[in-house]
Amino acid sequence: MDRTFRKDILDSNDFVITMELVPGEQSRGRPVDTVMAIASDALEDGRVSAVTITDNPGGHPALSPDVLGEEIVRSGMDVIVHFACRDENRVGLESRALQLGLLGIQNILALTGDFSGEGFAGQGAPVFDLDSVSLLTMLRMMDEGTLTPKDKEEFFTGCAISPFKRTEPECMGQYQKLQKKVLAQASFAITQVGYDVRKFHELLCVQRDWDMEVPTLGSVYVLAPGAARVMYQGKIPGAVVTEKLLGIVENEWEDKKKGHADAIERSAQLAVILKGLGYRGAHFGGIHKGFETLSRILDRMEEIEERWQEFLPGFDFPQENSFYLYRRDPDTGICSELLNPRGKRCSNWEKIMFQFFRGIHYAFFRHTAPFASQYRMICVWLDKGRFRNSLIRILETIPKKLMFSCQQCGDCAIQHVGFLCPESQCPKYTRNGPCGGSRDGMCEVHTERQCVWFRAYARWASINQADKMIGEFVPPRMWELNQTSSWLNFHLKKDHQRPE
Ligand code: SF4
Repeated sequence: MDRTFRKDILDSNDFVITMELVPGEQSRGRPVDTVMAIASDALEDGRVSAVTITDNPGGHPALSPDVLGEEIVRSGMDVIVHFACRDENRVGLESRALQLGLLGIQNILALTGDFSGEGFAGQGAPVFDLDSVSLLTMLRMMDEGTLTPKDKEEFFTGCAISPFKRTEPECMGQYQKLQKKVLAQASFAITQVGYDVRKFHELLCVQRDWDMEVPTLGSVYVLAPGAARVMYQGKIPGAVVTEKLLGIVENEWEDKKKGHADAIERSAQLAVILKGLGYRGAHFGGIHKGFETLSRILDRMEEIEERWQEFLPGFDFPQENSFYLYRRDPDTGICSELLNPRGKRCSNWEKIMFQFFRGIHYAFFRHTAPFASQYRMICVWLDKGRFRNSLIRILETIPKKLMFSCQQCGDCAIQHVGFLCPESQCPKYTRNGPCGGSRDGMCEVHTERQCVWFRAYARWASINQADKMIGEFVPPRMWELNQTSSWLNFHLKKDHQRPE
């Protein structure tokens, strides 16, 4: 392969172009031929560094990106495979990673993934044994040879980031999670889809100010009315199209030819803005029929590149009452250096409960707590008899069930999620920060209730420590402790907090 995505994004000075391909539910025939033809035309064109292939988008079954990716890699075009945690547990994910290594696919986009959709006989079971941060960690360990000592992989792993959130807790949650992904050694990042240039700029400002620069590609979706409507309705987790933009797009597409031309122009303008702002590249989506659309966008980008600042006002599509971390620069319409005040707090009652649980945690569940060795001795005694063990389980379960809807996972993580239970409150069981799917503070899956991380942020903010919400890497749940006492497991140093 002459050019690789890794080399382009790390070494060359060129603005990197990637393109998303979406396999269908067929293993052969027109959909597969079309995807292969687009990849082949992109290779011939020479301006695209890699194509990315989605992994069961929307949680619905589709042709595996691994087999399609192998064919495309063999043809000479580099591939980034989307790798979601939804459908397989850690054993399956590790096995799949080994398979990718064998197939010669090195670029991986590590994702928590959309929630499960429908397959054979109904909705699939949501697995989410790992989240995106744990997955990045697993892949990094496979690279270092610390997970499978006799086998060192050479993955080049990236992550996704959703900067287009409307509320303060969601915005800050996404940025804090990105920080964790960068610490887990994500080598690149790709944004979700949005058309608010101030949010695009904000992400770069946060990376600069939080010292977490990672080569980032901005997503540019070639908008047609169907996709715009679905994004406006929030049916594509993390992607945002406002009512105003939807109206413009619908208007443009009243004449199909004009609509297509306007979509190309909008994509080219957004891509040159991204380049001007300092993005490392653009990631194009929404190209399903042929490569010609992207070819026209790339040609147009060459013509208008120098004028990128002129186009900024055309991408001023804020969501109503949207939070921005930085104040608006009145001259450019993007971010100034000045920070906006932050103010999201939980209710006084929640704050009292939060402080109460923190106090209990501080006193009883730290290995450095004043009476930690005495607690340990008691737990050793309790663990000895079956009766005593059952008794402590009952004593733990009753209050925790009432207060946290505890699921008795045996490896408690409430302290990492603002004293809320990720097993009962988050359908993706996330322990390392929010997924990208929340909308207006509500959960992607249970849209009638607030995202657990939104609540956690408001709790930390109420004691002016919102920046501590996500903290250090939390290992995945230890399933071997399922249905045992997490109190005993903690003091007997069996759970994920045991000192290594
Ligand atoms: S609770 Fe939040 S993090 Fe969990 S699935 Fe819902 S939106 Fe995602």
